[in-house]
Amino acid sequence: MVKINGNFKSLKTNYLFKNIGKKLAAFQAENPTASIIKMGIGDVTIPLCPPVTAAMAKAATEMGVKETFKGYEDNQGYDFLKSALVKYYQKRNVMLFPDEIFVGDGAKEDIANFLELFSPDNVVLIPDPVYPVYMDSNIMAGRNISLIDGNERNGFLPMPSEGLDADIIFLCSPNNPTGAVYTKEQLQEWVDFAREHKAIILFDAAYEAFISDDTLPHSIYEIEGAYEVAVEFCSLSKTAGFTGTRLGYTVVPERLKADGESLNKMWARRQGTKHNGVAYVIQRGAEAVFTEAGQKSCAETIEYYRGNAAIMAETFKYLNIWFTGGVNSPYIWLKCKKDSWAFFDELLSRAGVVGTPGSGFGKCGEGFFRLTAFNTRENTIEAMERIKRIFNRF
Ligand code: PLP
Repeated sequence: MVKINGNFKSLKTNYLFKNIGKKLAAFQAENPTASIIKMGIGDVTIPLCPPVTAAMAKAATEMGVKETFKGYEDNQGYDFLKSALVKYYQKRNVMLFPDEIFVGDGAKEDIANFLELFSPDNVVLIPDPVYPVYMDSNIMAGRNISLIDGNERNGFLPMPSEGLDADIIFLCSPNNPTGAVYTKEQLQEWVDFAREHKAIILFDAAYEAFISDDTLPHSIYEIEGAYEVAVEFCSLSKTAGFTGTRLGYTVVPERLKADGESLNKMWARRQGTKHNGVAYVIQRGAEAVFTEAGQKSCAETIEYYRGNAAIMAETFKYLNIWFTGGVNSPYIWLKCKKDSWAFFDELLSRAGVVGTPGSGFGKCGEGFFRLTAFNTRENTIEAMERIKRIFNRF
């Protein structure tokens, strides 16, 4: 008789966005004229920029011409895109070889798939709260997970401490959902910890483009010794609006070894077997992100979201509500001083604003709430005015 992977039974049913949808639908049924402002889901709203769509249109035309048509190609990514990425990293003095970069369909896929390289009996350290994919993909693989608490005291940036044990360490900076960003000194502590414990850091840099403070690291490889202990996952989803277009990249340095084996070679082998590359048209669009015109357009879009985040941050400062994020991140993580679902209900019923209850990102998220800066400027201003009106009494 066929047997299923029993680890799936250990997964919590992910009710978060379903519950939000249900509560919103019920509210709208009762209040059909209510004006709702959605600041819940972390998806971008500004479309792809003209340099990207022009490059994709040109590439689509090439696909219809015998001489320029592309079939199966190197599953690791076209050289033109890997070279553009090498140059992008060089700006931060991060020196990579093209063969250390793997182009994929997105950070989510690569993060979950990369775990195939490790034995199930590793101890995995995951910050709480965090992007739920780390937890769920490790549960599916039946791994031992140990959580490290983020809280108000450590500014939601948990650090290594005496007695901490780990083989695989997940770090996300800027963090989803808290918007908190590790400094170089803090990341150095993590890199040193990983070297000492012969552990591997899986560093998620999906929001690096939102960092505006020049002193903060965008890449783990800005940290001394990181090439020997870290893999980096990044994505054009939030950088360039590719959430529906799909393109990410994973950096696996050639000098990175785990248990004496090259993770670069193992990942190349894994991808060679299970991945057939990202569409040529999409890779040409991604290449355009790194041209002068592409960088300018993407920077303008990010600046727009950052402007929204700044308006939100001002509001919570004015209301004297504790929060993280909002400066180097599209997320604001605020202390709601009550059950995060009760706060969701209150914000929806009294202000018509939809956010995400912190408890959906881990037990340490209880009592906190995430709002995103991906709405329009007008809606962001309006939402903050409403929030000011209802919470001015604090
Ligand atoms: N990593 C983090 C921290 C995220 O928040 C997200 C998406 O929300 C991803 C990765 C996924 O990125 P992608 O769209 O490239 O799969």
